[in-house]
Amino acid sequence: MKANVAAATDIGLVRDHNEDAYLVEDPLYVVADGMGGHLGGEVASATALETVGAVVADEGIEALADSVRRANKAVYDRQVGDAEVAGMGTTLTAVALQGSQLHVAHVGDSRAYLLRGGTLEMLTQDHSLVGEMMREGSLTEAQARVHPRRSTLTRALGIAGEVTVDTPEVPVQGGDRILLCSDGLSGMVEDPRLQEILRNEPDPERACAALIAEANANGGVDNITTVIVDLISEEGDNPAPVETGPAETEPSEPGLPSEERGWLRRLLKKK
Ligand code: MN
Repeated sequence: MKANVAAATDIGLVRDHNEDAYLVEDPLYVVADGMGGHLGGEVASATALETVGAVVADEGIEALADSVRRANKAVYDRQVGDAEVAGMGTTLTAVALQGSQLHVAHVGDSRAYLLRGGTLEMLTQDHSLVGEMMREGSLTEAQARVHPRRSTLTRALGIAGEVTVDTPEVPVQGGDRILLCSDGLSGMVEDPRLQEILRNEPDPERACAALIAEANANGGVDNITTVIVDLISEEGDNPAPVETGPAETEPSEPGLPSEERGWLRRLLKKK
């Protein structure tokens, strides 16, 4: 499988700096959305990407999930040891292509999507308060979009010494288009419109630009990051299965006491 890749990040219209970051090191593609005042957010997303990039380069795609756990530790150790970046954290959504298999490793509310045959499907679950409420059925998507705590995360890198990483595996095929994005895109542009833009603009670089323009046209209240990976079959590729499995999640750890969860959420509240 070959990949035609484009990536872009934009500060948006409201923030005074960009705490998002991305990594494109074929066949590894990652977005991270840092948080935690002053320098913290930028340091957190950069530290996480460096760690994941280095571990996968050294140890291969098999180490993808472990690289995210090590990125968590790297951000955590830094934020507990350095008052200037205390409390920082970051989301991280990584995909790595291995033949006709897409390995995903995900923590937080950045997203991975798959466009296949013109239909957009989300490959990740948001680890956010509103994401959990929607999955429980207590909130609609429309309510989630305007919820005052829509930026509150329930899982992120750097907040504790250990983190649970979602690791869905997705069979892919030529013609598939993968989108990674931060919530500065998905929070500003609804899925049907994302699908329309991704269907209508075949060039990945122009599609990234069109997505960012749409997020900014809708207010651009957050940093916006997009990575598009277009898959092209090569001679010798095994035919890939057509169906995509449900996102699989590692068994979650026992829940924290509710007071502690509340504390975590406050800590993780993005500005
Ligand atoms: Mn964001």
